[in-house]
Amino acid sequence: MQERKPAWDRWGRLSPTSLLVILILSTGTMIWLSQRSRAGRARMDEELSRAPAPTGECGIPGTQGCDGFEAVGELTGVSTAQSASRQPSARLSASETCRNSGYLCQTLESQDSLVVVRWPESAFPLRIHVPLPAVEPASLARELRSAAVSGLMAWSGHPSELIISERSVATPADIVIEWVPDLGGQILGQARYEWENRDGQIIFRVPSFLLSLRTGRGSYPSRDQLQLTAAHEMGHALGLPHSDSPEDVMFPTNTARSLSVRDYRTVEALYRLTNGALIVR
Ligand SMILES: [Zn+2]
Repeated sequence: MQERKPAWDRWGRLSPTSLLVILILSTGTMIWLSQRSRAGRARMDEELSRAPAPTGECGIPGTQGCDGFEAVGELTGVSTAQSASRQPSARLSASETCRNSGYLCQTLESQDSLVVVRWPESAFPLRIHVPLPAVEPASLARELRSAAVSGLMAWSGHPSELIISERSVATPADIVIEWVPDLGGQILGQARYEWENRDGQIIFRVPSFLLSLRTGRGSYPSRDQLQLTAAHEMGHALGLPHSDSPEDVMFPTNTARSLSVRDYRTVEALYRLTNGALIVR
């Protein structure tokens, strides 16, 4: 192995003309690199503006979605961001990122890229307000609430601890559960999120998280149905897409029995990645 001479020594042996040529070449290279960097950023912006946020959309042809028997409700991912504020935090390759990440990259089978959006760690622990539903008798209201809380708490610690409150408290909740008489058809629940990139910070919100008090048969949901619905919608509220396996709680219809290893693996992968990053197939 040869020892390299220090740079100042090598520069010292160059003629003034050589130094001038190097200076001109270096300046040209810097301008060229700067233009390439701007072009690269513009390309990323363009890709990002085309990339839909991960969603569990209702009514995708060929899926059971909303049409399934007593289907667990759907999430409609809504981006409130303008293209100018949707700068990607990072660009990741699907081949490396999607390995061992459960169904996180499921949507890449039908689209070229997706954006990682989720709660920032600064929002932890997440506070969830779960009121008593306005039903009689009181024991039934408590039973329904207890089932929903049990479904939500299945995610606690993955990755955020969840703090559940029954009454409105001084600190506003991050997520407020709303009981609705009927969501129509066989929809048992519905959650919606919004996100935007504000000066490099991903702002994530769940403006609505609805649980239905009626099943497709017109009766109150059973404890198991409600628990599973709350768990499914909470998965969306954490930023998860749908799964393609009926054994996962994030499958579009209520076929799972509880959160699977794959559900946990997917949420862990989601929160391991840089928030706002663009995953490209
Ligand atoms: Zn869903």
